[in-house]
Amino acid sequence: MADCSSIRKFKDAADYRKNFIIQGEIDKYLPGGKHFIDEALIQKCIDEIAMKPADPALVREIIAKSEATCETLKPEETAVLMSAAFVPELFAEMKAAALRIKKKVYDNRIVVFAPLYMSNLCVNGCKYCGFREGNELQKRRVLTMDELKEELDVLAGRIGHKRLIAVYGEHQTTSTEYIAETIETCYARQVPAPRTGHKNGIRRVNVNAAPLPIADLKVLRSVGIGTFQVFQETYNRKLYEEMHPAWSVKGNYDWRTTCFHRCLEAGVDDVGLGVLYGLCDWRFELLATILHARDLERWFNIGPHTLSFPRLEPASGTKVPEESPWLIDDDTFEKIVTIARLSVPYTGIIITARESPNSRNKLIDSGMTQLDCSSNIAIKGYSDFANEAHQEKERQQFMLGDNRSIDEMVRYLASRGTITSFCTAGYRCGRTGGCIMDALKTGREGKFCKINAVLTFREWLDDFASDETRAIGDKLIEKELAAIKDWLPKFYPTVLKQYEATCRGERDLFF
Ligand code: SAM
Ligand code: SF4
Repeated sequence: MADCSSIRKFKDAADYRKNFIIQGEIDKYLPGGKHFIDEALIQKCIDEIAMKPADPALVREIIAKSEATCETLKPEETAVLMSAAFVPELFAEMKAAALRIKKKVYDNRIVVFAPLYMSNLCVNGCKYCGFREGNELQKRRVLTMDELKEELDVLAGRIGHKRLIAVYGEHQTTSTEYIAETIETCYARQVPAPRTGHKNGIRRVNVNAAPLPIADLKVLRSVGIGTFQVFQETYNRKLYEEMHPAWSVKGNYDWRTTCFHRCLEAGVDDVGLGVLYGLCDWRFELLATILHARDLERWFNIGPHTLSFPRLEPASGTKVPEESPWLIDDDTFEKIVTIARLSVPYTGIIITARESPNSRNKLIDSGMTQLDCSSNIAIKGYSDFANEAHQEKERQQFMLGDNRSIDEMVRYLASRGTITSFCTAGYRCGRTGGCIMDALKTGREGKFCKINAVLTFREWLDDFASDETRAIGDKLIEKELAAIKDWLPKFYPTVLKQYEATCRGERDLFF
């Protein structure tokens, strides 16, 4: 059990709203009251660069820089790419470079995970979200640890997932102590796989929750949190304040924008940034994301482990997702993801099942590295609807667009030569934060990725795949092993030894 003695407790919602935020933990990272999201600079980049024709020679120079250094671009450089993305010939070059960068940094693999919603009690009033306080249509619920185990039995025992993003509303009764207990419960559960009976369990729990104080983050680190994700929703302060009422905790823009600074100070060093695309001008959001990443790099020499690209989806009791003036079409979305891949070349890019299958299929070539599948985002949705892709607006935060099962997804990816990775080795080997940044930028991590992808793919194919998917997967593994032999002839026998052990039924072998 985690030691939660350092965590403050709150007697009710009013007490939580009044006292949760610690002003000193904001001010420290906004020295002199100056915010690193420089809205004037962003607007200047949009007006004077992004909305003006780009010089093709400059575009190619920026692409080459991104590819060669894998360093975060300057906002002015990203703005040039924003303009170039609307010139078909230049966009084709940007896409090709994005794919090359992805291969260098992450190899030809996609990591899969599942969302697991733990609770939908919320003290906030975000206007686009079905969970917001006062939405009478939403059925409220908090998973008990026994219910969580039932969810894990489906996720790990039937679907074969090894990596989760655990998602929480913000509420004084489901604060850090609850989050820590759910993480520990996830790691402890081991379930036999249907085909082989080999035990499978969750090996990495990432968390998407509200911003926390440093003491709370240290507790989450102590129970082995993976990435801590907090989506900024919008970096535009005025719009942020319209969407998040001043009476709510989330209404504090500065508490949210400094959240990752606190994470890195607390030693939670894999941080996941994101914006809710569709709320505001995408150019503003992406440029602000670059400024955010650069500020984290400046303070800690660590940038975002991942960037997420949620798009507004219909949700219960709100019209914002349909009526926002900034909704984005699929073509623009592809441009955004491509520009992001070139602008923060080392980062993981997550595209969730909010997207339609077509949209996600396209984004694989634009630099996406992680996706979820067999997803159910209703609270207790996996165990209640274990055999169907069921959705129910009143039980979930928003509606999903891609209901493909993991078997379908793995087969689709394999048919296009992409290996599905269930690897969770990075953080268990200490390859997080600053340590992984260099490995990613030089392409060293990509090599580990390939080997670990093969080992975990083998496990999943044997334990969970349909015959048809296993047949396609087997062929892909043969190709991948041959590629590893070419790359690392001296190390190959060690890899092969681990691979053969995995075939014999040993589990969780990694480099
Ligand atoms: N409650 C915490 C918070 O807001 O930080 C945890 C995250 S919330 C449960 C997960 C994320 O879902 C939000 O950060 C937001 O970006 C996204 N979200 C909310 N409403 C949405 C909608 N209608 N469509 C798509 N994504 C939505
Ligand atoms: Fe609550 Fe998060 Fe939904 Fe806002 S986005 S209402 S904080 S669950």
